[in-house]
Amino acid sequence: MRRILVAGNWKMHGTGAMVQELLEGLLAGTQNESDVEMAVFPPYPYLAQTQSLLDGSSISWGGQSLNPVSHGAHTGEVSAGMLLDFACRYVLVGHSERRAIYGESDQDVADRFEAALASGLEPVLCVGETLEERENGETEAVVGRQLDAVLERCGIAGFERAIVAYEPVWAIGTGKTATPEQAQAVHAFIRDKFFSQDDIIAGQLRILYGGSVNGSNAADLFAREDIDGGLVGGASLKVEDFLAIRNAVA
Ligand code: PEP
Repeated sequence: MRRILVAGNWKMHGTGAMVQELLEGLLAGTQNESDVEMAVFPPYPYLAQTQSLLDGSSISWGGQSLNPVSHGAHTGEVSAGMLLDFACRYVLVGHSERRAIYGESDQDVADRFEAALASGLEPVLCVGETLEERENGETEAVVGRQLDAVLERCGIAGFERAIVAYEPVWAIGTGKTATPEQAQAVHAFIRDKFFSQDDIIAGQLRILYGGSVNGSNAADLFAREDIDGGLVGGASLKVEDFLAIRNAVA
């Protein structure tokens, strides 16, 4: 059976008061039994608060990035061990904002994926093309290249405990969602790529879609064969919007 994951990337948003309200609202709204898993990715300073509120609940949490080295002179960075100190289960790697704004290359992303796995964190590998790349017909080449960098480093076995998030850059924070057909086509391409190496890992791999997911489009997207949930930005910052996504498929 498919395990749908609805994951909220809060990016650099929040205050202590907002985190409290949001998490208390999510806890209250997820009391009913559901096969849908929820996860949140708060900014680092709110991880302690997140841990203390969500500990023992069905909602998981994770870090938005990590530095691949364990410690040292890396001002402003956090390591896998530090995320584990706050009981993170997941960590995002290769989010398009990290690639575009902070210059993370495919190799940097592979370093982070490898470090996450080695520590016991479950990496959520984000991949996706820009609008220009899509219009040039390069979507599969770009997504394939981003996946290959990690596959070459960690092998197919590295994806036994990982998640892939397909996030077309043109759909992130823009209100322009990929159609279910467009998203499914890329998800099928991703799964096929893994199938050629290991059909069991490929079959179990969770592939999330990200890019302006909301309560109105989630059901159609997540109904597609290879879409196993969503990585949600803007709509994860309001209790009712985030729960609407969960409830659309729960
Ligand atoms: C994201 O931040 O990964 C994202 C998909 O954002 P949004 O849902 O706002 O497009």
